[in-house]
Amino acid sequence: VIEIGQPERSVVTTCAYCGVGCSFKAEMRGSELVRMVPYKDGKANRGHSCVKGRFAYGYAAHQDRILEPMVRESIDDPWREVSWDEALSFAANRLQGLQKTYGKESIGVITSSRCTNEETYLVQKLTRAVFENNNTDTCARVCHSPTGYGLGQTFGTSAGTQDFDSVEHCDVVLVIGANPTDGHPVFGSRLKKRLREGAKLIVLDPRRIDLVKSPHVKAEHHLALRPGTNVAVVTAMAHVIVSEGLFDETFIRERCEWDEFQDYVDFISDPAQSPEAIEELTGVSAADVRSAARLYACGGNAAIYYGLGVTEHSQGSTAVIGLANLAMLTGNIGKKGVGINPLRGQNNVQGSCDMGSFPHELPGYRHVKNADVRDIFERMWGVPISDEPGLRIPNMLDAAVEGTFKGLYVQGEDILQSDPDTKHVAAGLAAMDCVIVHDLFLNETANYAHVFLPGSTFLEKDGTFTNAERRINRVRKVMPPRNGYADWEVTQLLANAMGGGWTYTHPSQVMAEIAATTPSFANVTYELLDEKGSVQWPCTDATPEGSPIMHVDGFVRGKGRFIRTDYVATDEKTGPRFPLLLTTGRILSQYNVGAQTRRTENVVWHEEDVLEIHPHDAELRGVKDGDWIKLVSRSGETSLRASVTDRVSTGVVYTTFHHPTTQANVVTTDYSDWATNCPEYKVTAVQVSLSNGP
Ligand code: SF4
Repeated sequence: VIEIGQPERSVVTTCAYCGVGCSFKAEMRGSELVRMVPYKDGKANRGHSCVKGRFAYGYAAHQDRILEPMVRESIDDPWREVSWDEALSFAANRLQGLQKTYGKESIGVITSSRCTNEETYLVQKLTRAVFENNNTDTCARVCHSPTGYGLGQTFGTSAGTQDFDSVEHCDVVLVIGANPTDGHPVFGSRLKKRLREGAKLIVLDPRRIDLVKSPHVKAEHHLALRPGTNVAVVTAMAHVIVSEGLFDETFIRERCEWDEFQDYVDFISDPAQSPEAIEELTGVSAADVRSAARLYACGGNAAIYYGLGVTEHSQGSTAVIGLANLAMLTGNIGKKGVGINPLRGQNNVQGSCDMGSFPHELPGYRHVKNADVRDIFERMWGVPISDEPGLRIPNMLDAAVEGTFKGLYVQGEDILQSDPDTKHVAAGLAAMDCVIVHDLFLNETANYAHVFLPGSTFLEKDGTFTNAERRINRVRKVMPPRNGYADWEVTQLLANAMGGGWTYTHPSQVMAEIAATTPSFANVTYELLDEKGSVQWPCTDATPEGSPIMHVDGFVRGKGRFIRTDYVATDEKTGPRFPLLLTTGRILSQYNVGAQTRRTENVVWHEEDVLEIHPHDAELRGVKDGDWIKLVSRSGETSLRASVTDRVSTGVVYTTFHHPTTQANVVTTDYSDWATNCPEYKVTAVQVSLSNGP
């Protein structure tokens, strides 16, 4: 029996793990967090939670947390603990010195989808108003940037179209490149409930995820496509819908650009796009593609839920466009039970994108070239804003290796572990003269840092997160920051050390500035959030209390736009030396690179990454379940244990990326999405052989 003790007070706040955005009551006794209780009035979770949100908060009190700022002249020197003042002056002087020597564009920031909207807004403001450039990027670059591009081009904005409640009205669910029961467990449970009630399921995934067959749930179709061929399969489904006359002509005539639809019909009707033409390429039978397409088009309300298995490809943006085409073709948009729903991996991916963290966009997805939009922010901030789009993360690293990019402020992100081609990331970081890491722990990126600024946890600050259904949830301070300052305060201190002159005293003032400058947040205030519990943007004058479903009467861009989706094979090829294709994903109990979950005292959070390999491929290599194997690609190699399973097809292997000793990204390539540079994590040609362990 564990003596927990009775709480004295509780604070309602929001889980800081995945994009479901579950509400919790943090129960406190004195300054001690006694337990996290799922909040029954939480609109995203209705009193439910998963193991991470409920139990994995021990990292906040973990001994590994760094609580004092540190600096060092060079990365070969030992760290030196200093005061906040000294650390911030050191950082400010270095950054300003670099700009003087190498130009304004020589420094930039990377912000995190773990941080609040207010923190993210301030980091992009730091870049634009204090650094005076647009070199701001977010870790969403490496996950959902293709969602931004694809949904922006077709519908006019980058956001899931539905609320989670909408799943209760689905008749058909298409899950592609997502594993909701592991990655988004509370939503996954709601989805399963709907499937048990009779909704039909189509899964497009190289791996047999739990939803394909689990107690009381069985997919009608599992299209176990070859990694890297999403676009071919999605396009073939559209071919079936058009060639068999299953499309909704009334919807298309009323809601979409008709001329562009005609061009699209010419493209999609070509037999080269048919299921038969892509059978060999994708490994999926034409009959299955045809049946799945007919079910999606004719089965009633059809909704698409997708994840990083769609976006993290060289054609990630094209695949998102292909899904939008499917929804528009069949009129599955703008009402309950339908739509396109990106399942966001981190708690605030939606929010970090909304807040202008991309180098070409100001808050609200408005291009920096737009003089009217720049004018709004110039008047608010009192400084001119560059109209030149800044550098994306990979461009920053390339420029660093070339010697033109010299300083980086990274808030809440371990790019050395998270980004592809670890060697190249390390080379970029090593080439810089000022790397500032602002984080909870001395992460792998901090090995290359000159300044370490201690970060705060979600329990130690006020703010908001925006979940995958655009729901703006309050994050409420449960305890004072152990490191002394919430992250938004640290950004303000750095801005002021560089002459920013900022005077925020509470994140609600930052939200007021967001609302004043960003139409989709126009009516968002902390008072409204306290009163309603949460709201879903857009919160415009027409919809002051939010919009659960988007594109109801018209698309954000006016008319929906069909765009052709030519399949282009990735440059990452298998061959005699690298005959298998590696793809990656998550498990329920771990979270990303494990920085938080591994620092929570419970054996559940010490599971290793394993490599799933089909029995046939394992036998060919003499590999048995549990053996150590060496995984080698053109980029690098790592060791992990084998899990022999027919969850994966022959020719495909699969692993997770949660453990630093595995460092799965040592093997991933530097190929990326053509439109956004989102890395192609999901397709790597590899060889597997027996080994003696690491
Ligand atoms: Fe947290 Fe996501 Fe689990 Fe909810 S489902 S408790 S948001 S990790």
